[in-house]
Amino acid sequence: MVNFDIVLRGGRVIDPESGMDAVRDVAIAGDRVAQVGTALPPGRRELDVTGHVVTAGFIDLHSHAFDLGGARLQAMDGVTTALELEAGVAPVRIAYERTAAAGRPVNYGFATSWALARMEVLDGVRLDGELRTLFANVAGPGWQRAATGPEVRRVLARLEADIADGALGIGVLAGYVPAARPEEYLAVAALAANAGVPTFTHSRDLIEFAPDTLIDGAEEIVRAAGETGAHMHYCHVNSTTLRQADRVLGLVERARRAGARVSTEAYPYGAGMTGIGAAFLAPERLRERGLEPTSLTYAPTGERIATADRLRELRAADPGALVIIRHLDEDDPVDRDFLLRYLLFPDAVVASDAMPLTWMGTAPEPDAWPLPREAFTHPRTAGTFSRSIRVLTRDGGSLSLPEALAKCSLLPARLLQDHVPSMRRKGRLADGCDADIVVFDPARLSDQASYDDPTRPSAGIRHVLVNGEFVVSDARLVTSARPGRPVRAWL
Ligand SMILES: [Zn+2]
Repeated sequence: MVNFDIVLRGGRVIDPESGMDAVRDVAIAGDRVAQVGTALPPGRRELDVTGHVVTAGFIDLHSHAFDLGGARLQAMDGVTTALELEAGVAPVRIAYERTAAAGRPVNYGFATSWALARMEVLDGVRLDGELRTLFANVAGPGWQRAATGPEVRRVLARLEADIADGALGIGVLAGYVPAARPEEYLAVAALAANAGVPTFTHSRDLIEFAPDTLIDGAEEIVRAAGETGAHMHYCHVNSTTLRQADRVLGLVERARRAGARVSTEAYPYGAGMTGIGAAFLAPERLRERGLEPTSLTYAPTGERIATADRLRELRAADPGALVIIRHLDEDDPVDRDFLLRYLLFPDAVVASDAMPLTWMGTAPEPDAWPLPREAFTHPRTAGTFSRSIRVLTRDGGSLSLPEALAKCSLLPARLLQDHVPSMRRKGRLADGCDADIVVFDPARLSDQASYDDPTRPSAGIRHVLVNGEFVVSDARLVTSARPGRPVRAWL
């Protein structure tokens, strides 16, 4: 007697691991994929998905969108697991507890945070498991200074305690702390290697941008991998490397050939977004990356920042406020090609760097859906995965659909599965896998979000299931759905 809850009937089932790409039925029982096959017996609920692709939900290794609206935009882009690994949070125990209590549409998980650990040890900031605490203190001079030996030991102790609590790795915002000594970075990597978890680095400045950097940001990552044996994940290569693809990708390739474990990720947008108080956005430093104050758009009001003085004023008034930073020109074919190269790099995964919503001139309405115009974000929050698949398979790239999907699901799962056993059941679509599934129309799949309209959900996504529950059904968000579960190391 079979007891299928849901049968997705007659779709084009793509499993990037086995290479299956064929018309099949997918039966779901509870929170697992019970069977993939042909002419399966009926389930309690039957859905005809003829003409649609059925595949594993997307796993985002780089999401800061831990508000409900941001998470919903990601779900509407096919994301079923969104992990905060780059900035990280601390203490992770509190972040997991609070997220579980609030409920999430998608699966969630956290790395611990080197930046927050530094804020605690060097600046006395009280940590509360919230990312906004990091942004609020991002401009504080205390935590950005070089640390003494005893201070480094206390930072490492905080990271270690979080790893014991199930943190998925160590997020290292090295690029926000140019004065941190390279020895400290190596000590963090050594700790990660000992604990068997990866680090996720927002690299320090490249030597091409900041000739006075204590060490080149790309060299620092590959050196740490070589010297400590840690798995070093190089976050958003697109936005920290910009046009230095030849040198940086070449360096990563050589390090890998020599046996170092260095993985990379990218998102297909020319602009970045972060707190306006970040070190590299100081007016006197913008030139390093070819930026002007007018390259920045202040999220809370949409203001294009006109002058260095205005930038100084805004940095002082609200350093944690977000800004869009236009680095590469998406309309320029040369710059577009850089973005494509980062995505096409062998084993590079798609990761969004999704941001929480900024509410422009109104009080936040956490539960509002559809999102009102006052909710602002970077379009990468809503569109990274659909856009990557479009670009990789149709608009520039020539990957097959299964190859592009692997970068969104299988490869990120594999990147974590050595220390996160639950990842062995994600990123694939086969009997026994978690029922994290996306169903989309391959002819219509596309991002819709733009810099002017950043919260427009992607097109072509028909259904999204997380742990066997619909989060998107017939292209509509299920507003009550909170099936997300914690993803932790070792458990
Ligand atoms: Zn970053």
